Amino acid sequence: MPPASKTDRLEVMDSPALSRYRIDLDTGCRQFVHVPSLLREAATEVFAVSDRRRVLLPLTAGVSVGPEMAASRSHVSAPFGSGSLYRISGAERQLLGQLQSWEERYQAGKAWYLGRTGATSRVALFITDDELAGIAEHTETSLRLIPLRQVGAFLNGQDAAIATHATCLGLWHLDTNYCSRCATRLEIAAAGWELHCPRCGDIVYPRQDPSVIVAINDEGDRLLLAHNSLWESNFYSVIAGYVEAGESLEGAVHREVGEEVGLEVEEVRYLTSQPWPYPRSLMLGFSARCRTPYFILDEAEIDRALWVSRAEFMELVASRQISPPGPSTIASNLIENWLGCPIIRPEDHNL
Ligand SMILES: [Zn+2]
Repeated sequence: MPPASKTDRLEVMDSPALSRYRIDLDTGCRQFVHVPSLLREAATEVFAVSDRRRVLLPLTAGVSVGPEMAASRSHVSAPFGSGSLYRISGAERQLLGQLQSWEERYQAGKAWYLGRTGATSRVALFITDDELAGIAEHTETSLRLIPLRQVGAFLNGQDAAIATHATCLGLWHLDTNYCSRCATRLEIAAAGWELHCPRCGDIVYPRQDPSVIVAINDEGDRLLLAHNSLWESNFYSVIAGYVEAGESLEGAVHREVGEEVGLEVEEVRYLTSQPWPYPRSLMLGFSARCRTPYFILDEAEIDRALWVSRAEFMELVASRQISPPGPSTIASNLIENWLGCPIIRPEDHNL
């Protein structure tokens, strides 16, 4: 596919990996759904997530999966089989139910309703590595917990959405235990989507923090890439940052770009969004243009930046001088939108 012209950039925009597909969350029924009962029904689809934003997958025999993302922000895993999450079977659920009852798990914030497909309900569970080992002893399928950011782009759209909702809810329950007004222990409600304070009546909902991420082009349609001083040495991405309290999205784009690379941008346009549970961001993707290419780095955060043409970008990636954002990130979508074609990663040749 030839690179896109400026005028058709929006038309080549694919949805980010984690927001390709909308599942029916059945929000209107949450107040009436009893999660422990659903877990006892054989027809319920049950998924599992764990700490460190990992999701449970079946691995095809002989396929290896790379090291976890802690070592590399851009690591791309090999395909892992079907592109689907693992569905925990009835027999495996019986084992888990013996370790801790479904009612206790629900009340502890370890099981949540994830809506339905037609008449089939979905529930996600939080499981430990020890519990997974217990399941693995009784199944022939090779199972593995793998970080969402590592596999999100390789899951089918529906399962990527399920994994993302489950991971976001799981993190929220891990981090949210006490009322911020009166410090009373919160109680689970609405099939895992609300936490109620029994003392002051406050209701806590799972939230996402808006963050802007922006692909900046200069007058020659080059892209600005930046390196954060905390990243591995050859990893580059586009400019991003949290929206401050009381700030508009556009205001955040102008402020972040000004703070990090000292540029004034115009033609700020919203492109797409993606939830990103690191820790609980909603990434809002923009494009913008600047008249002058002379950036001034905020060296405390951004220690290197460069303008690249499409040909230069592809060459830098192919020669491994630049490691681009992973395929599950919205940053990779913004770059591909500018590029007009998928990023060809050196490791793709080995898949
Ligand atoms: Zn309270």
